[in-house]
Amino acid sequence: MPRIDSKKIKKLFPIFSKKENKNLVYLDNAATTQRPKVVVDAIKDFYETYNSNIHRGIYDLSEKATKMYEDTRKHTAKFINAKLSEEIIFTKNTTESINLLAYTLSDNMLQKGDRIITTSLEHHANFVPWQTMAKKKGFILSIVPVTEDYSLDMEEFEKLIKEPNVKLVCISAMSNVTGTTPDLKKIIKRAHKVGALVLVDGAQSVAHEHIDVRKMDCDFFVFSSHKMFGPFGVGILYGKKQLLDKLPPFLYGGDMIKSVKETCTVFNDTPWKFEAGTPSIGDVVAFKKAMEFMEKLGIENIKNHETNLAKKTVEMLKKYKQVTIIKPKNLDKSGPVISFTIEEIHPHDIAEVFNKEGIAIRAGHHCNQPLMSRLGIPATARISFSIYNTEDDIKKVELALKKLFKIFAK
Ligand code: PLP
Repeated sequence: MPRIDSKKIKKLFPIFSKKENKNLVYLDNAATTQRPKVVVDAIKDFYETYNSNIHRGIYDLSEKATKMYEDTRKHTAKFINAKLSEEIIFTKNTTESINLLAYTLSDNMLQKGDRIITTSLEHHANFVPWQTMAKKKGFILSIVPVTEDYSLDMEEFEKLIKEPNVKLVCISAMSNVTGTTPDLKKIIKRAHKVGALVLVDGAQSVAHEHIDVRKMDCDFFVFSSHKMFGPFGVGILYGKKQLLDKLPPFLYGGDMIKSVKETCTVFNDTPWKFEAGTPSIGDVVAFKKAMEFMEKLGIENIKNHETNLAKKTVEMLKKYKQVTIIKPKNLDKSGPVISFTIEEIHPHDIAEVFNKEGIAIRAGHHCNQPLMSRLGIPATARISFSIYNTEDDIKKVELALKKLFKIFAK
């Protein structure tokens, strides 16, 4: 199997060659990845060569832009093995994709008293919309807790799925705090057995593992381009065609209609009925380059490289007794995200000392305050890897840790 040469790959990302970032060790990839030159160039190329609005121009330039936009839809379908390109809807991010579903499902497929199951591992994006809808519409929201090993408590899930009227399970494929990857196939099969739909939040998993929505058999899968080397401003919502056909539009206006009279409107077909107004065309077009970039490297190779870094980091952190690692023990079954706390040092102080050493990590609740409450901590420090990270980065983290301990020594 070809290995990832991360030092060579790093050179494909312009940000690392800027003099301002010469010593940057970027370890906040769960928040957003960096962009390779091919993606940055594709944005520039679109504006310089193809810039025009789509779907409505009867001239070559607009037809070319339309084709490029729709080609990205086709490529996205292939990337996650969707059956049809019509099953791909472009939004602005994962959050908007989930909100689209929260509003349309709540108004059309769910009733008062229905139960929605979510988990303690969810980002606020896959929690707050459902909590809000539950309050507004009288749904029951149940939360599957985590075990002591930060895995999903499958015994609790089994109890909850047996409750009456379970209609929807909303679950992330990879936690942005612990890296936990629940057994989705098992969960989806079980949910379908009781007639519930399953929404999978793939915002974290999509940059690290091969996604096959047909094999997974999820009903909806959502993710963001910016977490997988693509531009900001592009979110993806995959849904099974027969379900999307049943849902009404989320936003109303131009480009999502077939015809409008003073008294009524006929909406466009799936997926265009969900894409009201002018989308972020140049960004969608450049997103195709991000997928091609990943495919060229090989998603298995990416995964192996990042898992290796995560394992080495955990090994290193374990040497320090004052460090608590908040991550499942089986590192082969969790993403390259490592949360940790250090006795008597606030995560913000850790991030600040690391920053002084040129290391960018995240500290805080990571948009999962309910999990922090359950764990009884205010925040964690978080290291998250990508393909351009190297074993040298881990050495620099260890040096920064030693500096931190010195600063906070009593
Ligand atoms: N879901 C998960 C698991 C995430 O990690 C994030 C962002 O960190 C989101 C959803 C929200 O993504 P976005 O901000 O792109 O909408």
